[in-house]
Amino acid sequence: EPINLKDASLLRTQAFIAGEWQGAADGSTFEVRNPATGNLLGTVPNMGATETRHAIDAANRAWSAWRKQTAKQRSAVLRKWHDLMLDNADDLALILTTEQGKPLAEAKGEIQYAASFLEWFAEEAKRVYGDTIPSPSADKRIVVVKEPVGVCAAITPWNFPAAMITRKVGPALAAGCPIIVKPAEATPLTALALAVLAKRAGVPAGVFSVVTGDPKAIGAELTGNATVRKLSFTGSTPVGRLLMAQCAPTVKKVSLELGGNAPFIVFDDADLDAAVAGAIASKYRNSGQTCVCTNRFYVHEKVYDAFAEKLRAAVGALKVGRGTEAGVTQGPLINEAAVLKVEAHIEDALAKGAKVVAGGKRHALGHGFFEPTVLSGVTPAMKVAKEETFGPLAPLFKFASDDEVVHLANDTEFGLAAYFYSRDISRVWRVAEALEYGMVGINTGLISNEVAPFGGVKQSGLGREGSHYGIDDYVVIKYLCMGEV
Ligand code: ADP
Repeated sequence: EPINLKDASLLRTQAFIAGEWQGAADGSTFEVRNPATGNLLGTVPNMGATETRHAIDAANRAWSAWRKQTAKQRSAVLRKWHDLMLDNADDLALILTTEQGKPLAEAKGEIQYAASFLEWFAEEAKRVYGDTIPSPSADKRIVVVKEPVGVCAAITPWNFPAAMITRKVGPALAAGCPIIVKPAEATPLTALALAVLAKRAGVPAGVFSVVTGDPKAIGAELTGNATVRKLSFTGSTPVGRLLMAQCAPTVKKVSLELGGNAPFIVFDDADLDAAVAGAIASKYRNSGQTCVCTNRFYVHEKVYDAFAEKLRAAVGALKVGRGTEAGVTQGPLINEAAVLKVEAHIEDALAKGAKVVAGGKRHALGHGFFEPTVLSGVTPAMKVAKEETFGPLAPLFKFASDDEVVHLANDTEFGLAAYFYSRDISRVWRVAEALEYGMVGINTGLISNEVAPFGGVKQSGLGREGSHYGIDDYVVIKYLCMGEV
């Protein structure tokens, strides 16, 4: 299936290592398909440990020159890369939609969001300030400087094929680190298009590489190789745990953005129309496939029926289809396994007494298309209470008191995003403080942007991305104790 780009040179089917386009050492490849049609888009190199080692060695060689550039010089390169992303936003969005499925308008939004991390960290590059500390002894002076941690590795998911790369690469490059990215198997073409633009922007050879191929083999090398000093991973909690363990023998710095099980609480004093709008945004964006997507709706018993009815009407206005079709709001799920998980959660809930309010089954369009679904009468005994669905399923739980709902919301090993709607200011503070989550949306269903710290607590991860905190994960602190001679 062809992708009709204005600039066909953005579509690359080789990996990008040491500033060169390369195939796998053994010539092997894997397929990239359009989830909306099942059609083949192309093949990319199926690389493993050997090619990854080359990328690590190239990064290590490039490191000393890159860190010696002034922050202003590194900033200019990042800024240029950002500008090129915006100049090519239509093409990048089309590549993204074609391999990932999300509606074109959402893909364009992602490209802008992705570019914003390059802009932000181009600015932050110049603000990696140190400290001077008053010394306890008269003949000593204490100075604290921040230095780049070294060669970094990033393993990224398919749900945000562009933004999860720039959110890691932006701060790494700003801090003076080289970085190697292994994109998800489903979405390597967006990553490779970003590499085309990085090269054009003047990112030096080896400072940014994209290695495509076998996740286990590449991951084992990136985590096991002592030259790599930091790993940043976004993906599922089981893989995050594994990678963290693999990083232990060489004591790497680790950032993890893992699964969530976001609660969305509608109190009886909520503006219900605003809550429904927030619910649609937080649940059905990317067809429910984001780690901050609402997984559980808790609705106060007094407004439960009214909220369910309004949500049913709003869900009825969503349009399922190919992301490239005008007006579509719901693309396909990424693959068959994703559809099976949504089906399993619905089947389990119905067997335990839940009712279908809207949707409930595969869409007539076939492939990964699924009807936007709402279930009522959902209880804590059902799978959706504990597991992340990662699909367009809104389960509605009923609650009676604030204490009860806060307890239910926190009753999970995850702690990424939470949302709630209320207009009572003391309740807003009380609940915001009581929720054990890294991010809380209050009277809003959309919280992500480049200036705010994104990240979780508990088993949702470690570290923060974006914001002025985001660069901390890519620097190490050095203390200089200067004696008098
Ligand atoms: P998802 O369920 O969203 O696909 P994964 O955690 O499986 O989440 O995938 C996120 C990223 O982690 C992808 O780039 C994938 O290739 C990679 N990955 C999966 N398994 C491993 C592994 N064993 N080692 C290294 N990377 C892995």
